[in-house]
Order: sequence, then C-alpha cells, then structure tokens
Amino acid sequence: MIIKVRRGLTNKNREILEKAGGKFFEGDNGIVAIRDNFEKIGDMFDKSVLKELRGGYDELDEKGNVGMTSKMFKDKTIVNVKGVEIGNGSPIIIAGPCAIEPTEDNFMNSIAKAVKEQGANILRGGAFKPRTSPYSFRGMEEEGLKLLKKAGEIFNIPTITEAMNEEGLSMVEEYADIIQIGARNMSNFSLLKAAGKSNKPVVLKRGMSANIEEFLLAAEHIMYAGNSNVILCERGIRTFANGALDPRNTLDMSTVPILKEETHLPIIIDPSHACGKREYIKAVSRSAIVSGADGLMIETHNNPEEAMCDGRQSIEPKDLGGIVNDSKLFSEMVRSLDELDM
Ligand code: PEP
Ligand code: MN
Repeated sequence: MIIKVRRGLTNKNREILEKAGGKFFEGDNGIVAIRDNFEKIGDMFDKSVLKELRGGYDELDEKGNVGMTSKMFKDKTIVNVKGVEIGNGSPIIIAGPCAIEPTEDNFMNSIAKAVKEQGANILRGGAFKPRTSPYSFRGMEEEGLKLLKKAGEIFNIPTITEAMNEEGLSMVEEYADIIQIGARNMSNFSLLKAAGKSNKPVVLKRGMSANIEEFLLAAEHIMYAGNSNVILCERGIRTFANGALDPRNTLDMSTVPILKEETHLPIIIDPSHACGKREYIKAVSRSAIVSGADGLMIETHNNPEEAMCDGRQSIEPKDLGGIVNDSKLFSEMVRSLDELDM
C-alpha cells in the first residue's frame, strides 16, 4: 500500500507514520509513505492511521497507482548528465548506431564526431543487443563499451548504452554515463531494482505491451530502490497494425501529454524503433517535439545499408542536423504558443 500525503509533512504526521513502521519519501509537493513489507508491518497502515493523518491524503490501492513518479510528489525532474540537462524545456537529441560494431576503421569515433557536429547532445550505441534471433549480431559486449567510452571522451559527449541483466549493468555503469533499460526488460524487476541502486541516470523504455501505468510503475521500482534520475522513453507498442504498410511499432503520441500531466519525469521519444523506416523519422520527430517531448533518441549510422543492426531505420548523420534544428524551432514555437495561451 502507498499513501500520498498532499501538503508537507507535519511533525504530528511524521510521528504517526514512523509509529506505523512505514518508509516515507519526501518530495517537493508532498510525501509518499510506503508499507512494503507486509509480513513485518502487518496492517499498521490501516484506516486509523489514515484518519489520524493531518493535511489531507489520498489512499491508493496496492495493485496500481504511482507515488514517487507522480506530480503530487514533485513538479519537475531535470536530469543532468555531464552538463547536459534533460527535461529543462530544451529538447535533447541522443544519436548513434543501434549497435557498436567491430570494424577495421574506428567506427564509433567517426560516428561520434559526425553526430556531435550535427548537434546531438548524447551518443548512443548498444554493446548488449536484445535480438529476436540468436543468430543475429548480439553486440560486442565489454569491447564495445570500451569503444563507446573512448569515443565519448574524445568528442566530449555523454554516452548511453543498454544493460540487459545485472552483470551487464555493472559493466555499463563503469563505462557509460546513462544506463538504458530496453523495452524487453521494462518488467525485469530485479534489473530495475539494480538500476535503482546505481548513481547513473536511467533511460527506461516502455515495454511493447505495457500500458502507461505499468510504465510508470516500472520507473517507480527504480526510484523506490534509490535512483531518482529516471528518463522515460516511448518507443511504440505492439498492436494489430502489422501489415506491410504499418510501422514497426505503433507510436501513440498521446502518451507524451498524458505523462506530462501525470509525472515529473522527463519523457523522450524514440522514432527509430517506432517507425522502423528512416523516411518517417523526420516527420515523427517533429510531431514528438510538438507533443511536448523532452528529447529524441535517433539511430544514426555512417553507412546504414551496411549496419549490423537496424540499418533500415537508421538515418545518416547528414540528416540529423535538420532534425536537431527542427526540434529547437518547434519547441520554441510551442513555448511561444503556450505563453500566448493559444
Ligand atoms: C535500442 O534502443 O537499442 C532497442 C533495442 O530498443 P527497444 O528496447 O526499444 O526495442
Ligand atoms: Mn535498434
């Protein structure tokens, strides 16, 4: 059970909650009290505790509903990664290949240079790839992480890469600036807990069959374990739209305004895994920014036709600059309209 207490915590309320044995977390706007060990604490968060609480409260059931990710807890989270602020109102662009690839020349360095020149803020590249087929390229693992780190250092750009399990997570923490938890692992609760113990920010991707509340509750697992630097990433969900003309995943853009209403966490859009084809990335990126997204994650490759993973949806660096400029323009336009209340 969680209890959300609206205004600040009075001494009296603090006493009541402490006596009831619950943990509680104080946000800017209110507190979230949690009884997470049912056996030990028993039924101490019962109606009499609730009745005693002063300052108003919302009682929420055990099955669903969010606490620490909610707007009632906090208005806004800005995640700072080596000086790059995610969620401050200016969109950030994450770009780079789907996978870090073994090549003769220095692939990650040249892509880092190219995306940085085009205005990207963060460099991506997967070293542990969740692939549908075991016969597909599954990533360079630690060797890849080293290349990503080196490219990030040379070109002074923060890095993000996916961790698929707890062992990989400690490696990712060592080499990269942001931990990515992929769509397939959104409900891997032990991985979420482990990421919650990290001091590195986490980009959490929406599971392909997760609803919005489940998505937020996954973020809540990370926050509850101790890490409040969580960025949500919508990358489309599986629907009945699976014909030849349909996108790889169905991107429900209404997720952005819904999440903006419900949570203080930044939300970014990954148009690449949503669309599956590079020709749609520009238009969908524009609509993501107009919808209020805090940034974009775009797969970018120097030679998409030869990419070892997701080449069909990867754009070339020369096409990234236009999206970076569009993002700035469209977010300023939306801000001006909001100011004019139009
Ligand atoms: C990725 O970003 O590399 C990826 C695998 O995406 P998703 O988890 O959204 O499928
Ligand atoms: Mn990919």
